[in-house]
Amino acid sequence: MSDEAADAERHREKMAKRKAVQDAEVAEKTVEKGLLIVNTGPGKGKTTAALGLMLRALGRGWRVACVQFIKGGWDTGERHAIQAFGTQVSWHTLGEGFTWETQDKARDIAACRHAWARAEALMADPTIRLLVLDELNIALRYDYLDLAEVVATLQARRPDLHVVVTGRNAKPALIEAADLVTEMGSVKHHFAAGVKAQEGIEF
Ligand code: ATP
Ligand code: MG
Repeated sequence: MSDEAADAERHREKMAKRKAVQDAEVAEKTVEKGLLIVNTGPGKGKTTAALGLMLRALGRGWRVACVQFIKGGWDTGERHAIQAFGTQVSWHTLGEGFTWETQDKARDIAACRHAWARAEALMADPTIRLLVLDELNIALRYDYLDLAEVVATLQARRPDLHVVVTGRNAKPALIEAADLVTEMGSVKHHFAAGVKAQEGIEF
């Protein structure tokens, strides 16, 4: 056998073994359930990743919903894009902007409670299969919503409903309750170099 043929054969054997291990691992995983997903951390990509999941779910023909807890009436690309999906998407921008913009705590709390009530209503809608709660972590961080109540309600959701929570500084109790938690780390951000929020990338 030539060196090349021997090398190809070794590679084939190694990959066959790896496949057997991987197939066995995959076969062990049999649970099917709606996931509680948390995208947190200081890096960019928390909302973007949630929107990516919405797109994937839409591609499966599912109905999806999003409640934005902090963002106010900004004109974002995702809002325009999502309109193309018509009634397959239920979109609710209920924030008043960042807390340092509103400078009115009572108003922020009222907006968060209103958004949470909408989230609860969407969780009760059996036609929705994926619900994004954008920046819910911020509302929890400032104690604008009751953490124990929010976590209990999320845990009591229908077993097949996927929920994605975004925002920095996810509370430990939410992380504990979640199935999947991803921490976006900031390695570098153009903002630090004086580059402003870019259309199509940030909004
Ligand atoms: P995106 O919506 O782009 O996925 P995000 O959801 O991870 O961002 P947020 O905390 O919601 O982040 O902040 C939204 C805005 O802040 C975005 O315009 C984003 O580019 C910007 N941003 C995110 N991370 C950083 C960072 N490390 N430094 C400066 N700006 C950031
Ligand atoms: Mg975000």
